[in-house]
This record gives sequence, structure tokens and C-alpha cells, in this order.
Amino acid sequence: MDDPKTPQQLFAPRVRIAPSPTGWFHFGTARTALFNFLFARKTGGKFILRIEDTDQIRSKKLYEDNIKEGLKWLNLEWDEGPDKAGDFGPYRQSERIDIYKKYLQQLLDEGKAYYCFCSPEEIEAQKQDMVSRGLPPKYSGKCRDLSPETVKQYFKEGKNPVIRIKMPNKIIKFNDIIRGEVEFNLDLLEDIIIAKSLTEPLYNFSVVIDDYLMQITHVIRGEDHVSNTPKQIVIQEALGLPRPIYAHLPMILGPDRSKFSKRHGATALSEYQKLGYLPEAIVNFLALLGWHPVGDNEIMNLEQLINNFELERVQKGGAIFNIQKLNWFNNQYLKLLPREKVFAYFEEYMKKYPRKFDLPNTSHEYLNKVLESEILRINNFSEIFTNSDFFFTKNLHYQKDLLIWKGESEQTTKQALIDASKIMESIPEIDFNSINLQAKFYSFIDNNAFYQQNRGRILWPLRAALSGKSASPGPFEIAEILGKKETIKRIKQAIELI
Ligand code: GLU
Repeated sequence: MDDPKTPQQLFAPRVRIAPSPTGWFHFGTARTALFNFLFARKTGGKFILRIEDTDQIRSKKLYEDNIKEGLKWLNLEWDEGPDKAGDFGPYRQSERIDIYKKYLQQLLDEGKAYYCFCSPEEIEAQKQDMVSRGLPPKYSGKCRDLSPETVKQYFKEGKNPVIRIKMPNKIIKFNDIIRGEVEFNLDLLEDIIIAKSLTEPLYNFSVVIDDYLMQITHVIRGEDHVSNTPKQIVIQEALGLPRPIYAHLPMILGPDRSKFSKRHGATALSEYQKLGYLPEAIVNFLALLGWHPVGDNEIMNLEQLINNFELERVQKGGAIFNIQKLNWFNNQYLKLLPREKVFAYFEEYMKKYPRKFDLPNTSHEYLNKVLESEILRINNFSEIFTNSDFFFTKNLHYQKDLLIWKGESEQTTKQALIDASKIMESIPEIDFNSINLQAKFYSFIDNNAFYQQNRGRILWPLRAALSGKSASPGPFEIAEILGKKETIKRIKQAIELI
């Protein structure tokens, strides 16, 4: 009897994200979290956070905090989880050891699982033997039928056994919402280890117990877990537990179609946070990693994603991670979101990742002005500091050739900078803004045949003197932000350089 419908599934769905806190919150895990979240919100179900920290050596509080912070940053609030009330806790596996123990004991008592005392060397020898006989290498099942007396004796001798489940000899079929019917021949599997001891359950075991006790209706997770599903079904069946509905999300691939990894770029969500991407852009980008709405509109906020999301529309094939696409989304959201919101994000960003500047007066207001001038050109906040460092440092490094407009001489360039400096001096501090600056410069240019012929003759050296770069925002915008004093200082430095 495959895929029995359970009474649980008739009620509102309960889904979970079950990260192991053994590393920084991975981009792929964030995608899985988002799909679970969207499904829960769309169906009026519950989204649960469960921390799978049974690996005591590799699990770290630091990583758990990083995962929780990442989820909050993306606005994926969970309904139940650690530090949040819920009827099915505790939500951290390390706090559920006694629960697993009870179920392990049940399987041992019923003879569905057994203690295995074989040493790793012995198992290796068994496998070698099988290979030499042309069989797939598996654990031989040597300890399957040890008598209770032998088991007692081995314990007395101080041997430390693992617990294995008896793998039935049959074909397991399950329906996956995304992949359709999946079939798996258990003959290929050995009696897998489900616990290292009564108090040390392994992933496949604890996940089954938790999904059952937490009344998880739909297991939505990455395709890398497809091969675990038959093992988990065997455990469920041995314990007589209902089967949840499965949906395995496509792998995230790099542009070369291999599994998305550090080779392709940052894999931790927090690295994108540090680069200064907006959570709205990340969420939108993540949603399209394997899912596509009906129609062509790709820009969707969380609410629109919830409305449009359908698990059935998730693709089977791998989803390519394309950083240009993320940059495009971020650039769109920088323009689309209300400016106050972008400023608030920027303020939060600067607080979280403070930077030291050697230019005085880089107040919050100053930073916002810089952002405003850069907003159309940047892909993320951190690019402000890499593209336009001249807003933050007094020491510009450039070659004098940069100051010279095409076809001009050092002499005319120097004269242009002297003219520019005089105009700057003539504008009172209070009127020192880009509109006034532009008006003054343009009226000067209109009365000067040489500059009138080609404005670049004065505007290029001015812009280059202020930025030290061949590309930047316009000179009046930069001058307004830098202020009168710094502007004139930079022009004078340029004059001296020639
Ligand atoms: N702890 C597992 C992981 O981080 C969760 C797998 C599952 O969703 O069942 O991959």
C-alpha cells in the first residue's frame, strides 16, 4: 500500500525548514525555507523551524543564530520553532533525545532494528568480499540475528554497537509533487545505521520521528534528499507512522551546470547581506530559482509571491544561479522601493557593517546623498564604496593624464581648472548645490567661446579632479556632496599636479 492519505493531510498543511547548524545559512537552504514559507502562507498552514543539531561536534550556536537572523532578514517569520511557543516542541533536536530513544527501543524490542557490533575493518572486509563476488558492496547483515545472550555478552565486554534497521526486500514507491512517481528498489540498500547508540540517533531516524510528532504534512526539501526518502519511509513503516507528502526541489546549479558551490561565488546568505543586497531582491530571486509564475512579470514582492506560488509549478530540472540576474533584481528594487525604505536599509547596513572613512563629516545624511547619486549605477550597497571611494577618502590617486580632455593640452586643462576653481569660490556656501553650480557653470560656458565649442573642455577636468576616476556621477552632484571646501581643495590639488 503506497502513499496512504493520512488524516493529518486533511487539515491545514504544516511544513518545516530543518537546517543543520553546521555552517553558515546556505543560499540553497534559504530557497527551501522560502518555498516552504510561501506554501504555508498560501494554504493557511504553518511554517515550522526545526534545528537539526544532533551532530554535536559540528553543530554550533553561532550557525543557529546565523540561520535565524537570515530568515528574519528575509522576512520569513516562522510560526513555531526554538524561542517561539508551539505545541510540538522542543524544536531543537538535541533537546529531543529521550523521545528518539523511546522509538529506537521500540524498534529494537520488536526486532525491526538490531545492534550491530561489527567493526569498521570487519565491514570493509565484508564489502571487499562482496565486490570480489561481483555483488554490490553492502553490509552483510551479520548481526541481524544475534541471540539476546550474545548481545548481552558483547555489551558486558564493553563493545559499543550501532543500531541498524532491517531493510525489507521490496520496491518503495512514493508520489512527489514535483517529480511525480518515484520508485526505489530497497534491494540496493543495506541495513542502514539509524543511530550510533540509543542516545545518538542519526538524521534519517530523528527526521522521521520529528516529522511525525510535529504533524508535518508536506516535506518540501532539496533534491539531494530524494535518496533519503525511501530510507525514511522504511523507518516510518517499521513504526507504523503515516507518510507525509513529498516535494523535492530542483538542485541549484552554477552557470556551468554543476552543483552550486563556492567555486561559483558566495554560498552563504550572510555574504550577500554583507555585500549589501536588499532582502526583497534576494527573496524575489530565490523564488525564481526553480519556480516560475504564470505570465511574464518576474518582479514580485513577498505578498505577490504568496498569492502566485504553486508547488505544482516548480520545475524538475536544475535551477541556474545567475548573479547578473540577482544584480538586476537588486537594481530594480533600489529604484522601486520608496526611497525612505532604501535609506533605512542603508542605515541598517552601515550599522551592521561599519566602515572607517578618512574624510570628515561623512554623516548619515552625507551617506544618503552619496547613495542617491549612485543609486542607478550600483548593484548593491558595497559597490558604492568600491566604485566611488572618492566620496570617502581625502587621498585620491590618479595620473594627471586623467584630467586631460581628448585633444586638449596640459595648458588648456590647467586653465580650465583655474576657471572652475574661481567659479566655485564665487558661490556662497549656502548656495553650494548642484542646481546653482550647474547654472553658474553653464552661464560661464555660454559666455566663453572656447568652452562653448566643447563643454567637456572644462567639465571633464573638473569631474576628474573631484573623483579621480574616468567614470563617476556628474561634477556638480559630486561637488554638492563634497561641499565647497573639499571641492576647491581637490581642484587645487589637480592644478598642482599638472
Ligand atoms: N537537516 C537536513 C538538512 O539540513 C534537513 C533535511 C530535511 O529537510 O529533511 O539538509
